[in-house]
Amino acid sequence: MNCALVTGGSRGIGRAICIKLAAMGYYVLINYKSNTDEANNTLELVKQAGANGETMQFDVADKQQVNDVLSAWLKANEDKVIEVLVNNAGVRDDSLMVWLKDEQWDKVINTSLNSFFYITRLVLEGMMMNRYGRIVNVVSLSGLKGLPGQTNYSAAKAGVIGATKALAQEVGRSGITVNAVAPGFIKTDMTEGLDEKELKRSIPVNRFGTPEEVASAVGFLASKGASYITGEVLSINGGLYS
Ligand code: NAP
Repeated sequence: MNCALVTGGSRGIGRAICIKLAAMGYYVLINYKSNTDEANNTLELVKQAGANGETMQFDVADKQQVNDVLSAWLKANEDKVIEVLVNNAGVRDDSLMVWLKDEQWDKVINTSLNSFFYITRLVLEGMMMNRYGRIVNVVSLSGLKGLPGQTNYSAAKAGVIGATKALAQEVGRSGITVNAVAPGFIKTDMTEGLDEKELKRSIPVNRFGTPEEVASAVGFLASKGASYITGEVLSINGGLYS
């Protein structure tokens, strides 16, 4: 059975990606950190999209948890193949650099950047043996442009962009593509406190994006049709200069 693993699949962009990959026929592994009810809701939506899946709870920032839960799943499911990995889980914890605390730096770097390493290395082996794989990393406009108040988040996302480009060159000959999508402002819990009325004036399409609009691009990069695109970062930001 062909599977897709989506980190942070319980809400927001991750949920929309789970539904998209379900519609593409994948058995979806829905990772989440703590929100079991919302993860179960995503599973329900995956089923409504005509596929199946399961929820998988682990903190992507915790190397031990990733190793314990994901390795155990891989061992117990040797009949299944993870063809698609979407590294989507992420958090922001903004502060100007002068006031940025150790915990804020560590949390954001561990969740967005270190998780990429912890998870991708476990899934990569199977993809290489299968000689097929699609890895899509959800980064951000902040990782391309840098945003004030987000040195931690910008550094984490820029780090994943570098890793995307490097890994793409390592695994291209194994039939694996590695790409990133860089959303601008998307309507989710993460952007709830932001003033859309004010911010949309700087966005050419004059609105925030939807999780489905990000999922649609991820679905394309995860498809067989995107086989000659790798090491690329696709901006999904309504034309906001990046
Ligand atoms: P969101 O609505 O806040 O949802 C975050 C998701 O990530 C939830 O499913 C959450 O799980 C999960 N998560 C957070 N920390 C985790 C951890 N340590 N381990 C496992 N799962 C974890 O966020 P979003 O807006 O959909 O963002 C998704 C991705 O897009 C992030 O990487 C974010 O940086 C990026 N992004 C978002 C925007 C935007 O405008 N929204 C723009 C650019 C980039 P629980 O439900 O269990 O908490």
